[in-house]
Order: sequence, then structure tokens, then C-alpha cells
Amino acid sequence: MPELIIEPVLCLKDNYAWLVYDRSQTECAIVDPSEAEPVRRRLSERGLKITHILNTHHHLDHVGGNFALKEEFGALVVGPGKDAARIPGIDIGVHEGEVFDLGTHSARIFEIPAHTRGHIAFWFADDYAVFTGDTLFAMGCGRLFEGDPPTMWSSLSKLMALPDATRIYCGHEYTEANGRYALTLEPNNADLIARMGEVRSARAQLKPTVPSTMGEEKKTNPFLRTRSAELRRALGLEQADDVEIFGEARRRKDLFTG
Ligand code: ZN
Ligand code: FE
Repeated sequence: MPELIIEPVLCLKDNYAWLVYDRSQTECAIVDPSEAEPVRRRLSERGLKITHILNTHHHLDHVGGNFALKEEFGALVVGPGKDAARIPGIDIGVHEGEVFDLGTHSARIFEIPAHTRGHIAFWFADDYAVFTGDTLFAMGCGRLFEGDPPTMWSSLSKLMALPDATRIYCGHEYTEANGRYALTLEPNNADLIARMGEVRSARAQLKPTVPSTMGEEKKTNPFLRTRSAELRRALGLEQADDVEIFGEARRRKDLFTG
């Protein structure tokens, strides 16, 4: 099977839309187009046309380009069936466990609510890639706008079950700020310190820090590290269960200004 090519398209201030295609076929998707213009420009540089728009959730910075791109290319909009009413121009609603095919590449759908009620992920298992929108970020996770800590923990747990080599394609370049917060909870985590060095030098050159891999996230993302003794001590919750640890880590991040 030819390699699935996945390219970031920077939109707005810090959003990534993801262009997804392979060289042998005509199907081509854009994941979470915040706006149409940067996507249009990239497509014309590459000589590509999109056939599908994939949305992880309804927020405007993920669907803002839907109508314009759909009209221009006749692309089909694929998004969370449970949130169809809030996805502009949706044609195909997908649900937990269903499979979406882009040419010969298949994505399994996970429902991962809490940032929004209808948030989904697209997991291209054979391509070792998952699109996580605003649920799992590099060294971070999304705010809990429409769900509680147990719901988000269960969503993150579905993603943590993926192979460590899975690349995590998220919706924003938030990595450096996320890492600064992570270091307040695990200042002695050697993997985290090393990763932050790489992230800072990438950002100094305005390079993307995404994708990472699930293996890296398990070693450095505080929201996946509820088993870390250092993190538990920092939160003052050595005996708590995973959901409580996660909830407290998320609550403190909402207040973090560093
Ligand atoms: Zn969002
Ligand atoms: Fe967003």
C-alpha cells in the first residue's frame, strides 16, 4: 500500500489542518480546515483536489472552511454523527467503531467526548496515524467544555490503547506552553526535559512540533501520566485514583498562566 502522506497546513494563528493523500490515487482529504484560503493555496501548489473534509468536532476553528471548500471541490463532509446538527455541511455522520475509507486507507472512528459532546478521532491503523483534534495535544489535552473528568479520562484511555508508534496529529501548536505546564508537575522527568529542549529549538525556527507518537506522549504528557509518583506528589494526591489525578491536573492547567 502506498504511503499515506500527511502535511500540516497552518491556519489562523496556531491551528493545523491536515492534508491527507497518497500519490497513487485520486482521493484526498483535509482534516479540520479552520479556513479555506491556506488549504486552497496548498492544494494548488500540489496539484491536488480534495474529495473529503474530515471534522473532529464542531468548533469554528476546525470547521470554518467547510462550506467554501465543499462548494469549490464538491468534497463530502465527514464528521461526528452524534453532533451532525453542529457540523456545517455534513454529508456522512460516523460513529464509534465505524470505518471510513479514504481510497485504500481505512480509518476507524473513536468517539472521544468531553472537549465537546460529539468529538471524534480518525485512526488510520495501518498508517500508524490518528487525528485527535482538540482532545489529545502534544504534551496536553483539550479543555473540558462539554464533559467532566471521568468522560475525558475515558476518551484519553481509548487513545492510550493505540500502539506506541502511532503518530498523534492534533489540532493546535500548543506544545511549548503545554510543556511548560508539564514541567511544573514533573520537573525531574528526564524524557520531558529532553523533549522540551527539542520543542524549544523547533519553535525557535517556527517548525511544527506535531506529530509526536503515542509512546512519547505516554512518557511526557502529564494528562496521561496519572501513574507517575512525582506527578502525584506535585498534586498532593498520592492515593487518589486515575480520574481524580487527571481532574486535578486539568483543573490546575486551566489556572496556569506561566
Ligand atoms: Zn475545539
Ligand atoms: Fe481548536
